Amino acid sequence: MNTNHSYILNLHKINDNHIEALREYAVNHQVPIVDRNTLEMIKQIIRINHTTRILEIGTAIGYSAMQFASVSDDIQVTTIERNSEMIHQAKSNISNNHYSHRIRLIEGDALEQFDKIKDQTFDMLFIDAAKAQSKKFFELYTPLLREGGIVITDNVLYHGFVSDIDIVRSRNVRQMVKKVQQFNEWLMQQDGYTTNFLNMDDGLAISIKGE
Ligand code: SAH
Ligand code: MG
Repeated sequence: MNTNHSYILNLHKINDNHIEALREYAVNHQVPIVDRNTLEMIKQIIRINHTTRILEIGTAIGYSAMQFASVSDDIQVTTIERNSEMIHQAKSNISNNHYSHRIRLIEGDALEQFDKIKDQTFDMLFIDAAKAQSKKFFELYTPLLREGGIVITDNVLYHGFVSDIDIVRSRNVRQMVKKVQQFNEWLMQQDGYTTNFLNMDDGLAISIKGE
């Protein structure tokens, strides 16, 4: 972690909210919640683009869903999670922090839940689930995104492996990293989207629909 990174992290920490208390649990239990500086970037995009309807793929313990919802009382988050232990944690966190009325948790594999939300539209899609499946999530759910809406894909640099695959020994991880590389290049070439990539934390891609 370089000094600029820590410096900015500490500036953001000045405005820590109550949800931030969950980060310690996540770190201790290896739950990969969104990094802090990335989160602040996304919250700023939510403000800039007047985002109120958010779809998230990958809830985990509900941390990012609640952080997004905390930006404004108008925000409604729909979030999908397949892991039963995570679902249990998310439900309890969302209820304890009084976000149940603004966060809808959909239980099951995101690739099978389209019918439950297909009548809705969204201002933002946050893709943060199984990294090898990001392209499938993008293809399935972006038809629900309004023109001018934003897709944010997290972990596009995946531990630095994506830019330096030769350091990866495990065959499974290599397969996954290749998928992320393919996704990033595919995303960059999507007609109807303008994408930029940020070298922040684990990497994120910001795609704007219709420009
Ligand atoms: N967005 C959260 C972190 C999500 S971690 C945050 O920043 O706070 C990724 C989560 O995606 C894990 O809990 C995992 O169980 C879930 N996941 C992975 N693949 C999935 C799929 N196909 N459908 C639903 N959830 C999935
Ligand atoms: Mg992530």
